[in-house]
Amino acid sequence: MTNKNKYFVANWKMNGTNKSINLHKKIIQFAKKKSLKSNIIYCPPYTLIRSFVDIFKNSKIKFGAQNCFYKDSYGPYTGQLSSKMIKESGCDYIILGHSESRAFGDNDKIINKKIISSLNNNLKVIFCFGETYKEKKDKNTNKIINKQITSALKNVKNRNNILFAYEPIWSIGTGKILNNSDLESCLFYIQKLLKSKFRIKKPIILYGGSVNSYTVKMLKNVNNIDGFLIGSASLNVNKFIDIIKKTYT
Ligand code: PEP
Repeated sequence: MTNKNKYFVANWKMNGTNKSINLHKKIIQFAKKKSLKSNIIYCPPYTLIRSFVDIFKNSKIKFGAQNCFYKDSYGPYTGQLSSKMIKESGCDYIILGHSESRAFGDNDKIINKKIISSLNNNLKVIFCFGETYKEKKDKNTNKIINKQITSALKNVKNRNNILFAYEPIWSIGTGKILNNSDLESCLFYIQKLLKSKFRIKKPIILYGGSVNSYTVKMLKNVNNIDGFLIGSASLNVNKFIDIIKKTYT
């Protein structure tokens, strides 16, 4: 996966302090390299987005949120943030459908509403989907992927503004990954589905789940990956940079 412009999405989950922003400043210099064909997107918690955007304002780094409320703009929804507010805070992207958000109540229908709201507010959506270990063992992976994508894309018009992040749930935070040929068949299925059923000419497909300095050496050889969604390894700037470097070597 060496020649194309790749995506590297840092999903910080419920981690990070103001101090973390300073520690990550070194990625600004790294991203300036002319030869670096990458889109680097930080998705910190809401509390850090504004400071991050201000401090990184002249850099190539983009920002995303990790979720939003399904209602569109403003209103009496204590504790919630709309996609409109997220766009206003300086984000260009939003992660939706992450398995951890699903575990805390987001279902397919709500995720679909959030996707529509986010696209309407000019955010690019990083849509996460993937199977549990049981679903994999029962050979239901493709069925689950089809169901989650079909539901996510219901009544969605600007599908080209969605990045599709395949994240097998059993792989997140466990150090376990699929072998290259199984992952390739799975990505092939996803690509075919997006092209034929949903008429997306050039779908952008990311992989997430235990991407780190070690696993990336194997993952970078898998065809049809346009980039990575990275959880724990993105919290450490040296590890994050190392993943990007290794992708291209
Ligand atoms: C994630 O939660 O999106 C993720 C990929 O986590 P990790 O890289 O830690 O497995």
